[in-house]
Amino acid sequence: MLDTEFERVSLPISDAFTISRGTQETAENLVVRISDGSGATGVGAAAPSPHYGESAATVEAVLPALLSVVESVGDPHARQRIERDRKDVIADNPAAHAAVDIALSDLAAKRLGVPLYRKWGLDPDATPMTSFTIGLDSTDRMREKAAAAADAGHEVLKVKLGTDRDSEIIAAVRDAAPDARLRVDANGAWTPNEAIRQIDALADHDVAFVEQPVPAADPDGLRYVYERSPLPVAADESCVTLPDVPAVADRADIANIKLMKCGGLGPARRMIHAARAHGLEVMLGCMIETNAAIAAACHLAPLLDYADLDGSLLLESDPYAGVPVDGDGIHLSALDDRGLAGTGARRDE
Ligand SMILES: [Mg+2]
Repeated sequence: MLDTEFERVSLPISDAFTISRGTQETAENLVVRISDGSGATGVGAAAPSPHYGESAATVEAVLPALLSVVESVGDPHARQRIERDRKDVIADNPAAHAAVDIALSDLAAKRLGVPLYRKWGLDPDATPMTSFTIGLDSTDRMREKAAAAADAGHEVLKVKLGTDRDSEIIAAVRDAAPDARLRVDANGAWTPNEAIRQIDALADHDVAFVEQPVPAADPDGLRYVYERSPLPVAADESCVTLPDVPAVADRADIANIKLMKCGGLGPARRMIHAARAHGLEVMLGCMIETNAAIAAACHLAPLLDYADLDGSLLLESDPYAGVPVDGDGIHLSALDDRGLAGTGARRDE
């Protein structure tokens, strides 16, 4: 017997977050709880992205149908059957599916009395550091934000680009954080030829890689950039679900996988292994999301080359505790000490 419920939570972002497509001041997440009637509750959350056709309203509209599948199967360990039945009822809406999958995974791990990463046998010492994202702003503000992030101990910064002053921004950020490992994300803002010019200039500032230089709608452009770029190329908007992995294997060096794009931990794990099989490096990213969602991604961190799991760090405050994340890394082994299995618990509970 499983009981389910969900609620919408409005999470103010500490500093309005801007990328080449627009600005966001609040993150609307949907938190799902699944209880087994004997005191264990699994928690998960959806962070819907309008870019992938979802909103808080679309998640709210489909969650009752997805959760009725969970209740009718009634077993948190029957994730394969529940996933198949969920997809039969609602084919798309990946963030809504992810929230349910995370909450079920959390409940299954809690019933077994281990954190998720230990259920999978993963090595907590193999987690890469997460990057901290510097959103678009005036060049001076981006310089200040980069200096503040470096002061706070973040050694890896991901800089949003896609403006008419990209080279000025990267010079200012490099100046403010001379020792940081820099990555950049254009969110598809460049044309292929512009991307080559930009990436040539970025290479002079010791940038590690470039994410989504051209729009996902231009796969030939992505290959054109990949074949000419002096820096590795990561595919994010071009790499959404499992079939995209082989499709980007000759167009990118790195697959950026997100639970909210692919529909949860099960699909994300399949994408990670598919990416490895196609010779891609693996990055796990996030939306702006509460720990009730992002903690799940953190449990996969030992499988990654690159982590971009700073969504909760960008919030003014997060009502959910999760995996401790800071400039030193993603601290999975801290969960054993706290006895916190699975994903987030409310801080005030
Ligand atoms: Mg991206």
